[in-house]
Amino acid sequence: MVKHLYIHVPFCHRICPYCSFYKHTFGDINQSELVESLLKELCYRKNEYDLAIETVYLGGGTPSALSHKNLERLLSGIGEIVKTDDLKEWGIEVNPSTFNYNKASMIKRQGVSRVSLGIQSWNQSTLKTLGRDHSPSDAKKSFEILKSCQFESLSIDLMFSIPGQSLADWEDDLKETIALRPQHISAYNLNYEEDTEFFDRLKKGEFFEDPEKDGDHFSLAMKELINAGYNHYETSNYALKGHQSKHNSSYWEGKDYLGVGPGAFSTVNRKRWRNVPDTKKYIDLLKSNTINMIETEKEIINDDSYRIERIALQLRTSSGLNLDYVKNNLEKVYELESDKLLYNYDNKLHLTEKGKMLADSVIAHLI
Ligand code: SF4
Repeated sequence: MVKHLYIHVPFCHRICPYCSFYKHTFGDINQSELVESLLKELCYRKNEYDLAIETVYLGGGTPSALSHKNLERLLSGIGEIVKTDDLKEWGIEVNPSTFNYNKASMIKRQGVSRVSLGIQSWNQSTLKTLGRDHSPSDAKKSFEILKSCQFESLSIDLMFSIPGQSLADWEDDLKETIALRPQHISAYNLNYEEDTEFFDRLKKGEFFEDPEKDGDHFSLAMKELINAGYNHYETSNYALKGHQSKHNSSYWEGKDYLGVGPGAFSTVNRKRWRNVPDTKKYIDLLKSNTINMIETEKEIINDDSYRIERIALQLRTSSGLNLDYVKNNLEKVYELESDKLLYNYDNKLHLTEKGKMLADSVIAHLI
């Protein structure tokens, strides 16, 4: 039974130079054709799999970049296909300046309970480096609109360790965010992903990776956000009580999920696939009812791959990693425990504060 649904909307008004997701500008693609294709795929999947959806998340891309009419059609269509009475969470990713009060209140009316606002920074110069097309005041205005709509949970997404961003700049970003008191804050370390402009600039020597800066920014986030009452429930995620992301937690726990839309990943019964990352092709295949052709990069998750994923994802959460997943590597566990990077509580392994700063390396030792 599949309980978690992801819908991918690949449109963005502008492409950020660090972004590795499948996304593109509108170009000559008709928004409503994509929306109808997404709903058609969802109907098809509903017939194919036993769906009892508890969480839905619309990500991208920028779902809020869809016009009011198209977004309303998409949300109401999802509501008709999925029994929304049983939903525990319905989330959407939005960017500043891609919605007004009318669009935000329509999103709320359609049943969305959780909104993640991609602010990234409150500093104009950092936003410029990131190639974002909003200003700090746009972000503030967008947050106030969402707040006035009274969603159950509002999340602000931030990034740190950005070229040119000092520790003091990052501290200002954290303080400004905390002052708004969103129920949830995500704080991501900038990664230089292949096939991005930032990666090319890293290779050319214009940017450089700085693990010390990463560690300082990460520690500051932990200190400030925990002091402000947020629970650090996953390496990059902090929540007030009762506002943890149920949808993301399902990924970390290794639950099955269905991904609908171009470039979306799904994992059902240990079978993983990616929908074709080509919006035009995706629409054409759905129009011609050759839906089975949209699945690419198919693989079977064997026991070892599943175990590795559990270690990589669950160890980063405050729920910890079941000791069973590392039972063949206990010597390494004892070593990491004696180095004060891990501790065992109730047969679950957890990262210490020091371990959280070195999470990638701790995980690499356990795999
Ligand atoms: S808005 Fe988001 S999805 Fe779109 S390019 Fe920027 S980071 Fe990527």
